[in-house]
Amino acid sequence: MKSKTLPQTNSLKHTLLTIFPPFVLALTFYPLITGLYFNASLVEIAEPMVTLALITLIMALRFVTGKNAFYYIGVSLLFINQFITLAHWIIIKSPRSQNSLFVVFNSHTNEAAGFMELNSGPSYLLVIPFVILFILSLKYTFHYPRQDQGQNKTLGTILVITLIFLSIRAYMGGPREATPLLVRSVHLFHKELNKYKALKGESQFRTDAIKDAVLLNRDKPRVVVLVEGESVNRNHMSLYGYYRNTTPLLQELDDLIVYTDVVSGYGTTYKSIAGALTQSNLENNIEPYEGFSFMDVCRASGVMSYWLSNHSPIGFWNNFTTLLAEQSDKTEWVNLTTNSDVLISYDEKLLGVFEKTLNDEVENKFIFVHLMGSHDRYSERYPPGFARFKGESHKDQTIAHYDNSILYTDYIVDSLIKIMKVYADQKDVAVAMVHVADHGEDVYDDSDDYAGHGFAGVIPTSIVEIPFMVWLSPQYKTQYPEKSQTVSDHAHLPYVTDDQFHSLIDLMGIETEIFEPRRSVFNTDYNFKRTRIIMDGSNYDSIK
Ligand SMILES: [Zn+2]
Repeated sequence: MKSKTLPQTNSLKHTLLTIFPPFVLALTFYPLITGLYFNASLVEIAEPMVTLALITLIMALRFVTGKNAFYYIGVSLLFINQFITLAHWIIIKSPRSQNSLFVVFNSHTNEAAGFMELNSGPSYLLVIPFVILFILSLKYTFHYPRQDQGQNKTLGTILVITLIFLSIRAYMGGPREATPLLVRSVHLFHKELNKYKALKGESQFRTDAIKDAVLLNRDKPRVVVLVEGESVNRNHMSLYGYYRNTTPLLQELDDLIVYTDVVSGYGTTYKSIAGALTQSNLENNIEPYEGFSFMDVCRASGVMSYWLSNHSPIGFWNNFTTLLAEQSDKTEWVNLTTNSDVLISYDEKLLGVFEKTLNDEVENKFIFVHLMGSHDRYSERYPPGFARFKGESHKDQTIAHYDNSILYTDYIVDSLIKIMKVYADQKDVAVAMVHVADHGEDVYDDSDDYAGHGFAGVIPTSIVEIPFMVWLSPQYKTQYPEKSQTVSDHAHLPYVTDDQFHSLIDLMGIETEIFEPRRSVFNTDYNFKRTRIIMDGSNYDSIK
């Protein structure tokens, strides 16, 4: 038999090393240290402590059973969890949450790659020491089998402390508080996903529930078009005073009504579009999948709705924007380049589809046009002919690419207006177009070292300051002189795009009980005194 009398100091040392192997400790705290480097105010010390507590339980299991397999399982799980946390810090400079999973899974899988490229820099090197630590932890397992009774005391004490810590977390915040952040955020994400799956089934029910929607003067046909830009910061448009001539064509139009004080309530595509096209807004706490959508209102009043998109319909699992799109009567996806870095889908693909849709036999239409606009990677958003602006450094180059994408969008929106003009004249139809962006983009505007629309803490103004403009065909102006007057009178009023649902009902000329005139910027009863609290809870008018 082996000696049972290991010196006391060695016994304690071996117990501690087996339960808290140094490289495992390093892996546990590595992302925290990275977080302190990027943004100390967002670091949560509780997060690695929960991870540590769970890993301690696994290591204790190894100590008790003497089986090193537990060690390898523990280290592998730890590596995956910590790697995802570390990647979040490096890519979006904030901790993990269900929102960050939204960013990764809701938009294209390309988005994550876009982030990487835009913000590539030496921070990626931070992965190297992390991987080295992992390799070291596989090599040095600090496996000292249990030898004497004294070790049981130490083990017992550690286990009691660990279990008390986890129990307090679970008692105060529910069982999930005692799980790593990854488990919590995946759970929340999954919950959201299930809600959206319910959306489809409920859609018919909700349509039936709008009984009173009536299209006024339905014998006089009209078309409302919403051209949704992507990631457009209006401060990069010469139309709004930018120093580069990025919107030469739109500036030439003398019948374009340019709104000057419009902000997006949200910083993400899905939230923003869902907020715009459904009853949900920042004040009413209605979730997008709970309220009526503008497509529901259209269907109930006999207006045909179309969804034309240059975004990919195939999300990682089920793209939420696609679920919203599916509420339209007809959808047309021109971008099937998902997961491919080789193919690039320019917005001009939408022009022909738009013209065809406009000329569809149906008389009263709502057409939603979803541009790829200035989504990262900016350099892939415009054909070579639009590469007008250039820059030397990585930063200046990124800004130039972004500005080129704005220049290209100028061409796209102008082309859409030209198509509408021809159609309105030929068919004598009242056409109204709104062009807006889902959110802005921080292209080194509010940060020195960041381009994108992710943010942590207070939302930068560059992410919410968006373009908003209206074009009315001469037929619309003749048919609705008062509405047209209000539309141009209100161009300088403050507005948040989460209320577009009501503005669209107004522009379309639909009467329904769910319409709230004070929420429509195109209405004489519009409440322009609304306090503009945006998604992060801050008052835009006090941070701008
Ligand atoms: Zn977006």
